[in-house]
Order: sequence, then structure tokens, then C-alpha cells
Amino acid sequence: GAMGATSIIWFRKGLRIHDNPALLAAAQGADHLCPLFILDPWFLQPDKIGVNRVQFLLESLADLDASFRARGSRLLVLRGKPQEVLPPVFKEWGVTRLCFESDTEPYAKQRDAAVRQLAEAAGVEVHSSVSHTLYDPQLLLARNGGKPPLTMQAFTKLADAVGPPPAPAADPPEKLPPLAPQAASLDAAASGVPSLADIGYPPAGTTPFKGGETAALARMADYLSDKDWVCAFEKPKGNPALFLRPATTVLSPYLKFGCLSPRLFHAKLQQIYSERSGKHTQPPVSLRGQLLWREFFTLCGSAVPNFDRMEGNPICRQIPWADDPARIQAWEESRTGYPWIDAIMAQLRRQGWMHHLARHSVACFLTRGDLWCSWEAGQAVFDKYLIDADWSLNAANWQWLSASAFFSQYFRVYSPISFGKQYDKNGDYIRHFLPALKDMPAKYIYEPWTAPLSVQQAAGCIIGKDYPRPIVDHAVVHKENMAKMKAAYDAGKAAAGAAAGAGGAAAG
Ligand code: FAD
Repeated sequence: GAMGATSIIWFRKGLRIHDNPALLAAAQGADHLCPLFILDPWFLQPDKIGVNRVQFLLESLADLDASFRARGSRLLVLRGKPQEVLPPVFKEWGVTRLCFESDTEPYAKQRDAAVRQLAEAAGVEVHSSVSHTLYDPQLLLARNGGKPPLTMQAFTKLADAVGPPPAPAADPPEKLPPLAPQAASLDAAASGVPSLADIGYPPAGTTPFKGGETAALARMADYLSDKDWVCAFEKPKGNPALFLRPATTVLSPYLKFGCLSPRLFHAKLQQIYSERSGKHTQPPVSLRGQLLWREFFTLCGSAVPNFDRMEGNPICRQIPWADDPARIQAWEESRTGYPWIDAIMAQLRRQGWMHHLARHSVACFLTRGDLWCSWEAGQAVFDKYLIDADWSLNAANWQWLSASAFFSQYFRVYSPISFGKQYDKNGDYIRHFLPALKDMPAKYIYEPWTAPLSVQQAAGCIIGKDYPRPIVDHAVVHKENMAKMKAAYDAGKAAAGAAAGAGGAAAG
């Protein structure tokens, strides 16, 4: 029988064995341990969530399954809304304890509150632990008077005052308690990791990045093996056009799904820094600084209401964007006629990852730079294609790039022509991601519409036919948009002033 303690370790993010306090809590004193992932239809909508990220998820689940098999168990994968899947499972498996990693996204908070109630009603003890971030967001908020800091400088000060983050948790034992008998008797095919086709997706994605804890640890070891590189890392100096070996770690999808623990990554960085007694770059530009950006923006996402939209978001400037579906679609589908922009969007659709400065370029272009579309539209497109799409980080960075929050130098606009050229004069990145332009001479590759017709013919690429003409004239529109930004900023200041004058709460 299933008498005795039966735990579920419920995976959502945190798809790893290492530094997994919820897994340790579930295994502690358990007679039976059931590792469970629930495929929630909310995260499997092919029109909103692209195949590359779902493939990455399934690969991560397969890797986790292999880790449990090596420890005498296996991963159970069930399908449906967790609120509906779990109550019968509690009963059938005789569950006494449910453990999971806490999650601060709005959807997750609601889901987890509902599940917690259902568990408690079923007499199941609930345990959640913080391991998606370096610090417990609740603790940081409490230390900051209940509000999130709104600058990276203030955040870094807060983190320094709190002290070093907790060390990674111990590895789980080499042998884990067996599945509850009723769970063990589930049909293996119906409770294993499905294929993409099983869940309504095309049979394969196109990203070169493979999901899973094993790949995450190998990738981290690879990038951290070059200690000189780690100690000299300065984010703004990276080359966004490098695509064979990117200029940054590409650990973002692994951190997003929790295949890699940020605390492990952080501890490894501190170890390398300490070997170099002080000779390394510092936040915000250092590699450790990148983890602090993640921490800062996750904290803001957990505490700012309506963080993923303009309306009702108290830190977001109100800007009269004019969404134009045709423009948004042209941007999404690499048809703006600006090769640097179109190549980046092609990398997004194909690989699900681009360098941070490449993301800057296309986000600025869609919003305040050129197309004057709302950052929320861009956020949705990124959310569809990025393998590292993260609710808080995506929203925060879009607000930054559109100068809606965190950043206010709206007069600093990225040129869709000269910015990429300074890194990649020959346009190799463009040639790789936009094959139509592969034979365009370097002289014209960033502005192919300026090539004489004979050159276009020789390159096998007629502008207006094989590759589009520019959707807007950057030289003209970026100035018009700057004036609109100034007007929106002035209106915001006037409204804040009026509210303060009327005795209302002056928004900082
Ligand atoms: P590294 O430079 O190697 O950094 C290590 C880790 O630090 C990253 O894996 C990431 O977890 C974190 N990090 C780095 N930069 C940032 C940043 N600016 N904000 C928050 N965390 C950061 N990142 C996501 O993970 N998910 C997103 O959905 C996302 N959306 C973005 C949208 C826009 C418009 C922009 C401009 C940036 C976005 N970023 C997002 C941030 C950043 O571009 C990526 O985290 C980074 O490029 C990932 O590559 P990496 O792992 O090689 O980074």
C-alpha cells in the first residue's frame, strides 16, 4: 500500500536536480517521491508560443527524466490545468506533501494560490522555496520599505546591504525514494515526455540551442573556462553580430526554465573573481552584474501592478503610440527593408535568441525610433519567439528601450544603418540570416536601396522585388518621433505637477 509519507515535487520552472531546495524538501523523510510536471494548456498555445521554446521545454523535461531514472525514479508528465489535475492525484497517490519552487509571475501566483487551497483542503502539506532568483523577492521588498527600487543603482545598494545570496543547496541523494505505487502503475507512454507533434506543434523547431540541465551546466562550464574573458566582461562592449559563438553566454533560456540555478552561476563567478583578487569588471556591466539585472527586473515584475502593460502601470510613461498592424507584422516578419533590423528578427524567429544589443536595435526601431508602435506589441512578438522569454525581463526591457520606464534618454536613438556596421562591416550577420542579400556588396549591405540597379542585378537581389524597400525613412521619422516623445514627456510632467498641486500623491 501507499501508507507513509508520499511527496510530490511539482516542477514548473526550476527544471533541474542541482540547487533545488523544493526537491530536497520533497525527498526528506518520504517513503514515496513523485516528480511531476503538468503540461498546462496556458503555456501551449501554438499561435502565441512558438515551437522553439516548447521544444526547449520538452528537451529540458527529457533531461530531467533521465536524471530521475539514474536515481531510481522517473518524471511523470500529466496534461491539463494544474488546478484540475492535482486534486484527483492527491487522492489516488495518497499524497501527504506538495513541494514546488515559488514563482512571482501573475499567472503563477494565481495558480499557486488556488493549488495551495486545494492541497490544504485535501490535507496535503504545502512547501514552497525560493530558488528562481538569488534573493527572496519578498525579503528584498521588506528590506526596502515594501516598494521595489526603481534604479539599478538603488537595487545594487539594496542587494549589497542584504549581503551575499544563499549558497546553492546540496545535491539530492544518488538514490531517491520510489514513485507511489499508483503513480508507478501509470501507462508509461501516457505519463512520459510527449513529442512536439503529440501536443499540436510542428515536429521540430529550428533553434540550435538544446534544452536541459546537462546542456546548461556544460554551457556554463564552457563560457566560464575562459577566466580572462569572465573578468573582462563588459556588456556594452559585446559584439551583437557574432552568431557562431555569441559574445555573451546564452545561459538565458536555461535560467528562464531553471535548468541552471542563478545561485550556482553566481557562486562560480564569485569564485573566479576571488582568484583574481579584485581584477575584474563590476556591476552593472560585469557578468555578475547581468545576474543583478535579472534580479532587479524580476523584483520589479513581482511588485509593480500591471507591469506588462502601459495602462494602470504606475512606473510606465503614458505615450500615445499608434499601433499599425501592418507595420508590426512587417517588423515581425523581417520586411522593414532595413537589413540590420530584418536580420535580427530572422535570428529571433529561427533561433529564439539574439544578443542584448541586437534586441535594443529592434525594440528601439519598433517603438520610439522608427515605427511608433507600442512596446506591448513588441513584447508579444518576443514572447512568441524567444526561447528565453521571461515575463518580467521581457516587460522590463521593453519599457527600458521604449523610454517608458527606467531609462529616459529618448533622444538617443539607434541607427538601423550605422549601429550594426560598426561591428560587422562586411555584413556577415545579415548575409547569414537574410540569404536574399548574401551577394550584395559590403558597401551597400546596410542600405541596399542605394545600390545602383546594375549592382542589384549582379547580386541577384532587386530592391522592391527580392527584398523590400525601407518601410520608413529613418532620417526623417526618428526626428518626428523624438518630438512626439518630448511632447509625451512634457504632458506627463504637467499631469504629475497638476496632481501634486491638487494635493494628490506626487508620483516619483
Ligand atoms: P549574458 O550577458 O550572458 O547574461 C547572463 C544572464 O543575465 C542572462 O542569461 C540573463 O538571465 C541575465 N541578463 C542579462 N541581461 C539582462 C537584462 N538586460 N535584463 C535582465 N536580465 C538580464 N532576457 C531574458 O532572459 N528574457 C527575456 O524575455 C528578455 N527580453 C528582452 C527584451 C528586450 C527588448 C531586451 C532589450 C532585452 C531582453 N532580455 C531578456 C535581456 C537580455 O537581452 C538577455 O537576457 C540576454 O541577451 C541573454 O543572453 P545571455 O544569456 O547571453 O546574457
